[in-house]
Amino acid sequence: MGTTGIPSTSPEGDVLHVQVAIVGAGPGGMVLAHLLDRMQISCVVLERRSRAYVEARVRAGVLEQTTCDVLARLGLAARLQREGLNHAGVDLVFDGQRIHIDLAQNDLAGITVYGQQEVMKDLYDAAAACGVDVRFEADGVTLHDVSDVPRVTWRERGQAMSLDCDFIVGCDGQHGVSRTSIPSTHIRTFERAYPFGWLGILADVPPVSEELVYCRHERGFALASMRSPSRSRYYLQCDADTRVEDWPDERFWDELTLRLGPELGAQITRGPSIEKSIAPLRSSVSEPIRYGKLFLAGDAAHIVPPTGAKGLNLAVADVTLLADALDAHFRGEGSGALDAWSDAALAHVWQVERFSWWLTRLTHVFPDDDAFETRLQASEFRQLVHSAGARRAFAEHYVGSVMESE
Ligand SMILES: Cc1cc2nc3c(=O)[nH]c(=O)nc-3n(C[C@H](O)[C@H](O)[C@H](O)COP(=O)(O)OP(=O)(O)OC[C@H]3O[C@@H](n4cnc5c(N)ncnc54)[C@H](O)[C@@H]3O)c2cc1C
Repeated sequence: MGTTGIPSTSPEGDVLHVQVAIVGAGPGGMVLAHLLDRMQISCVVLERRSRAYVEARVRAGVLEQTTCDVLARLGLAARLQREGLNHAGVDLVFDGQRIHIDLAQNDLAGITVYGQQEVMKDLYDAAAACGVDVRFEADGVTLHDVSDVPRVTWRERGQAMSLDCDFIVGCDGQHGVSRTSIPSTHIRTFERAYPFGWLGILADVPPVSEELVYCRHERGFALASMRSPSRSRYYLQCDADTRVEDWPDERFWDELTLRLGPELGAQITRGPSIEKSIAPLRSSVSEPIRYGKLFLAGDAAHIVPPTGAKGLNLAVADVTLLADALDAHFRGEGSGALDAWSDAALAHVWQVERFSWWLTRLTHVFPDDDAFETRLQASEFRQLVHSAGARRAFAEHYVGSVMESE
């Protein structure tokens, strides 16, 4: 372990070399770095932000079993297994009617609630312990000659750095530099923007329900989620131009109470928010996600609305498949797996895109919807109420077992 082997500092202009340069130390980049490290493939991770900044970003909370298995395989799941909350079900409320969907039926494994911040702490602690080379506060990361002989330059504590590598993996999220390093003639992006966002709060109060509750109300969507038995995470659908300042805590709690309805609403424990933010909702997929020696993974390649709780899980799925393909290449088995990676990863991505779009469509109020659309929504929900097959299909997609069962 600790195969990076490049000096921690370099005089101006010094050229270093690793097999794989990873841009972005979010969940995708860090899981990839650990996978490559265990495969004895040298890599370095370049992250624009500080460690403290990334660890403080409140985002995902729902991990699929496959994601937990990858972390366990890497020996990084001790705290996740101790502190993560296993969930065998999820509740849907549609205009006041509540149903429970069993996520652990038959062969399905359920999901684990464990905050992205905790995942990042575990990944960074283990990186420090194993000698995985992560360069935080890497300024001005620039990719060169990605089609042929890749090179990355950046500034570190004011010093110019340059790195030769065999491959670059762009795990730098939706606003990174990797995707835009591909000529626009060689990549196509398919997009859907939603005319609303999610206003989220984190509060140290017990969750309103043991299960996650997805709620469609005529005033908009609401999600009751949690991070621990004493920490709740709630979201409200909000207008795209909503400002956090317009939502003092009491307004948020009042609106959440309304949307969750009388039964659940009465059980909400209110308290001061410790974080409050707005996330826009977007679906987007770029194709292909390889250009020459550059691969795009995670949010750099695709975005899903958070409704299906899939973004982090997709990033881990992308890099797990890519690490195996890189391993095959470096072990001399040829480039077949690397050449097939973009199509293979995108097949899974589109399945997840479809589910995340569908769940968003089912549970949100779209400003332009007419009565025809809302009746279709209600009909979709009734299908879940009355059909065990529909509930099973929902559960398969939600826990992420669809690829395995194909
Ligand atoms: C409100 C909300 C709720 C969510 N809930 C869930 C959930 O329950 N389950 C789930 O699976 N997903 C969820 N997600 C999505 C999930 O958080 C993301 O999909 C996930 O973080 C993607 O990981 P990533 O590593 O691909 O990208 P990111 O986490 O975005 O990491 C990219 C990294 O690259 C760095 N970077 C960017 N530009 C540069 C540059 N030029 N140079 C160097 N570094 C750079 C960034 O600082 C960042 O650290 C949610 C997202 C939101 C907003």
